[in-house]
Amino acid sequence: MRTYQADEKGYYGEFGGAFIPEMLYPNTEELRQHYVQIMEEASFKKEFHQLLKDYVGRPTPLYFANRLSEKYKTKIYLKREDLCHTGAHKVNNTIGQILMAKKLGKSRIIAETGAGQHGVATATVCALMGMECIVYMGEIDIARQAPNVARMKMLGAEVRPALSGSRTLKDATNEAIRDWINNPVNTHYIIGSVVGPHPYPDMVARFQSVISEEIKWQLMEKEGRENPDYVVACVGGGSNAAGTYYHFLDNKDVGIIAVEAAGKGIHSGESAATSALGQVGIIHGSKTLLMQTQDGQITEPYSISAGLDYPGVGPMHANLYRTGRGEFISITDDEAMTAGLLVSQLEGIIPAIETSHAFAIFDHRKFGPDDVVVINLSGRGDKDLQTYIDYFKL
Ligand SMILES: *Cc1c(COP(=O)(O)O)cnc(C)c1O
Repeated sequence: MRTYQADEKGYYGEFGGAFIPEMLYPNTEELRQHYVQIMEEASFKKEFHQLLKDYVGRPTPLYFANRLSEKYKTKIYLKREDLCHTGAHKVNNTIGQILMAKKLGKSRIIAETGAGQHGVATATVCALMGMECIVYMGEIDIARQAPNVARMKMLGAEVRPALSGSRTLKDATNEAIRDWINNPVNTHYIIGSVVGPHPYPDMVARFQSVISEEIKWQLMEKEGRENPDYVVACVGGGSNAAGTYYHFLDNKDVGIIAVEAAGKGIHSGESAATSALGQVGIIHGSKTLLMQTQDGQITEPYSISAGLDYPGVGPMHANLYRTGRGEFISITDDEAMTAGLLVSQLEGIIPAIETSHAFAIFDHRKFGPDDVVVINLSGRGDKDLQTYIDYFKL
């Protein structure tokens, strides 16, 4: 049977791998050799699950969304990752990786961040573990995301501006890689999504897979069956989606739906719809689909939601797209904002704008009255309040 998981070398079909400069090889190789073994140790599992329970607040509820289900005439369940400590799924991964860093004997943590959400999740676990934390962030993003910069500082992290290029996420990533090359012994690099060279996409997917692990037993309690008809998630780099799909990937009875940000429209020139617009290329050490010019230079993506404007997509998702295993839907800024307002008023839950994209699919696609559709509610909307205020003139 075909598997949609990574193989030994970190390939999902033709995508993935580790395309890295020689100088980075010792770092990724150390991680590659040890990550599976460490994750399977009983002491690691125990500490990881204890922290997920007591610190993150897991298991997160699987909530039957009654009014939303009535409106769209299908059975909609919400996996409430918005209730995680720090307000989104990202902390599942940073908890896992800080424990990994400890096991590997590292004392210093670096990370990159765009909107600052991954920076905050990393600074949080560094405070928890008393580790030095340096977060690289583009100078432009530092100016745009002042509240998250303040959070990181309050948590004890140092925020270092990336001053080169477009001074945004990709430049922060370049700075972080440079730092790691210079500090291979004592430093671990916490990447924030299922992107980057092998073993990051697989490792991050495994840490986030707790989402679908919980969905299975929670759905069994509520519906008497483990498998929904569809799992739905928004895709930036693809970590919340990877966690939501993980235990269903090789089960064809479960439909996989991935929702991308079309920004102002797929063909507007201002979009982040990677599968629709992307071509095969290499970004941050991984072979995947990415938005690029004819010369292979990375195109600056755009979306109203900062968490979705990554120019590439994780290799797992590139493969789901290419093979047809996943159904990909692109949602514009306007459609996402409207869906976010609707969910707020029908369910009393204000979603992150990233997640609002996932809710907008119901105006594009019909489901049957008995279909069970699980949407991963990846994060809460508090961080996006100003964007909602400006958009709706609230
Ligand atoms: C960061 C973020 C995303 C996008 O990242 P993925 O790696 O694709 O999950 C989606 N939703 C929220 C709430 C986020 O903070």
